Amino acid sequence: MKRQETVQIIQGRGCPICGSGNSRRLFRQSFAHVSGVRLLDGYDVVICEDCGAGFADNIPPQEAFDEYYRDLSKYENPGHDLEAIPVVEPRFRDAAELIGRFISSPDSRVFEIGCATGGLLKAVRERGFPDVLGSDPSPRCARAATQLYGVPAVVGTVFTVPIPEEPYDFLILTGVLEHIRDLERTVTRFHELLRERGRVYLEVPDASRYVPHLDAPFQEFSVEHINFFSRKSLTNLMQARGFRALETGHTVRPQHEVTCPCTYGVFERSADPTRIEKDTETEAGLRSYIEGCRVEDGRIRARIRQALAPGERMIVWGVGTHTLRLLATGGLNPEQVSLFVDSNPNCQRQQLRGVPVVSPAELRSRDPILISSRGFQREIQKQIQHQMGLENRLILLYE
Ligand SMILES: [Zn+2]
Repeated sequence: MKRQETVQIIQGRGCPICGSGNSRRLFRQSFAHVSGVRLLDGYDVVICEDCGAGFADNIPPQEAFDEYYRDLSKYENPGHDLEAIPVVEPRFRDAAELIGRFISSPDSRVFEIGCATGGLLKAVRERGFPDVLGSDPSPRCARAATQLYGVPAVVGTVFTVPIPEEPYDFLILTGVLEHIRDLERTVTRFHELLRERGRVYLEVPDASRYVPHLDAPFQEFSVEHINFFSRKSLTNLMQARGFRALETGHTVRPQHEVTCPCTYGVFERSADPTRIEKDTETEAGLRSYIEGCRVEDGRIRARIRQALAPGERMIVWGVGTHTLRLLATGGLNPEQVSLFVDSNPNCQRQQLRGVPVVSPAELRSRDPILISSRGFQREIQKQIQHQMGLENRLILLYE
């Protein structure tokens, strides 16, 4: 794996929905970075003046994201035993039920881009659509889909998956479009991969309905999320590029210990692009989210300040967005951190602000441990206390 520090190239970005260059900044998000794993130092959360879409501006080019997802996937569940077949989560069964209503026949060719370890495709197959194929940028994920569920999968992104001799009938992308810088090229790829009147199911977090207290403050502005969709802007993206909306809606998906408001749409390839309609819900939603997060952020900063006795240092568990944002914005003082711990092998043997990042197995120190995560707080607590039997004092930020 490449571990070189590369010079960060930052590019201004037109609106990914309508192409306009006029945008207004609502918020600046900042991140520290682990040595050798620099994707971005931050971005501007902006609103398009013309169509009202929300997106991250001043970010690296698409290639930097492609490299990041190939090398650093955190979606492969390294802790999971590939021998033990996990139960398909209810969120996958729910999505498969909705998707199944729009797949035209039992022999339809279904292709999922960003399939992670294949849970959704397994649920789709169980609904009577056996011809499924997945793809994921992470080779480990693609392998796991086959090992866990017998779901065939190839390695690739929306930009690199091969175009089949016989086009697909149905594409699925859930939790993917919010990660992609180049949405124009993405929808062009949908046209290349699908047959005439083929369909695509898209599901993304709903920025018009982000809720501050459902997750850690500003967590929706993560290192990896660079498009802030609403139902309207998702529909605009597709209808302006020759896809007709068959059904759109809202849903809520559980994700570990938090829940995520999402919006979805089923779109059909058709010849005629439709005019973009102004999105009036995203800006209001983002503004109220940002206000709510400021309050919650003040609370967790105070808790961190009060957690240590003078001269005491702590171990910080987790080096994701939660930690990187706090480090970059003064919420965590690296001088008070003796070690960082993370279960993702891709982050280990690195440094963060000069402090080593180690695996849980390497942990020997008795310093108190700050669990720097909302979505995995309970799971990490269980791992520390029950699986590892450690007696370090725990600093928890969330009830
Ligand atoms: Zn726009």
